[in-house]
Amino acid sequence: MRILVTGGAGFIGSHLCGRLLREGHEVICLDNFFTGSKRNIARLFDNPGFELIRHDITEPILLEVDRVYNLACPASPIHYQYNPVKTIKTSVMGAINMLGLAKRVRARILQASTSEVYGDPQVHPQSEEYWGNVNPIGIRSCYDEGKRVAETLMMDYHRQNGVDIRIIRIFNTYGPRMAVNDGRVVSNFIVQALRGEDITVYGEGMQTRSFCYVDDLVEGMIRMMECEGFTGPVNLGNPTETTILEFARRIVALTGSKSRIVFNELPDDDPKQRQPDISQAKEKLGWQPQVDVETGLKKTIDYFASLLAEG
Ligand code: NAD
Ligand code: UDP
Repeated sequence: MRILVTGGAGFIGSHLCGRLLREGHEVICLDNFFTGSKRNIARLFDNPGFELIRHDITEPILLEVDRVYNLACPASPIHYQYNPVKTIKTSVMGAINMLGLAKRVRARILQASTSEVYGDPQVHPQSEEYWGNVNPIGIRSCYDEGKRVAETLMMDYHRQNGVDIRIIRIFNTYGPRMAVNDGRVVSNFIVQALRGEDITVYGEGMQTRSFCYVDDLVEGMIRMMECEGFTGPVNLGNPTETTILEFARRIVALTGSKSRIVFNELPDDDPKQRQPDISQAKEKLGWQPQVDVETGLKKTIDYFASLLAEG
């Protein structure tokens, strides 16, 4: 098949492009390089099945493809809050443009949504039936509400125009090829630990997250794209939950770092708890994470250690 991956030069997108090429597909990677990099996809340039298009998905584009994975959108709070208007345009106009393309060429389209559609959840763990608790006017809204509208657009193009859609709600995912300056907790803590800098826990570190290794996520994405008769939304994540303080201590231990843990101000609207209920993914896709956090973190630490050693 010919497969379009928007946001393909980003962290998750680059892993997905690699995996799809290994399976023998042609891959078109579309990216505007806001948070992605050529370095992430450099090893793919030699593959004759790989094509790169520098394009912004807020603008329409015409391509003949069989599948669209719509991942283009900054995912780290510091990056999506840098230009919030652009963030919401990317989710909303990007979804409209990609759905228009999918409709025209009869491609199947998968939207990368997020656990952020649950906001600061009052139901724990979060299952797909939960409608969420999102602040519509806060600093995270450009991302959360943009993704919620993207889900709405997917469902309406499906009901109104018969577009073949899939929606996944990704929970915190980590692994090699996160950017050093990404700003999310896993890369921040590992880079700080490796450099011997203070580890910046926001708030008291009692908020929880559940971290999924990127290879597991990519497996779930492909299973969802290729399953029949199920549009989702489906949660994809690792249900192992940890407080951020525990997580910081774990990274200090795994890196053998001398870094101190310090406590900084908690950003507005930071969700207090997050854990996916993955019963649907298990039942409909036969999917569950295989990589435990210790193994995944070691691989990620090795990646950052060699990156920092290069200078
Ligand atoms: P990332 O920032 O590494 O990747 C996003 C990619 O999209 C980058 O390559 C960026 O340059 C590109 N992009 C951004 N705006 C664009 C635009 N207007 N036009 C074209 N390209 C654009 O983030 P990631 O972690 O790889 O996330 C990928 C997707 O998965 C995002 O849609 C994100 O919302 C979703 N997601 C990720 C997580 C996670 O934990 N990593 C969790 C939930 C959802
Ligand atoms: N966090 C932290 N220190 C950091 C970066 C993040 O304590 O240097 C916290 C953040 O406040 C949040 C959690 O870690 O509670 C996860 O943050 P991240 O930005 O990775 O993802 P999200 O909040 O979108 O889940």
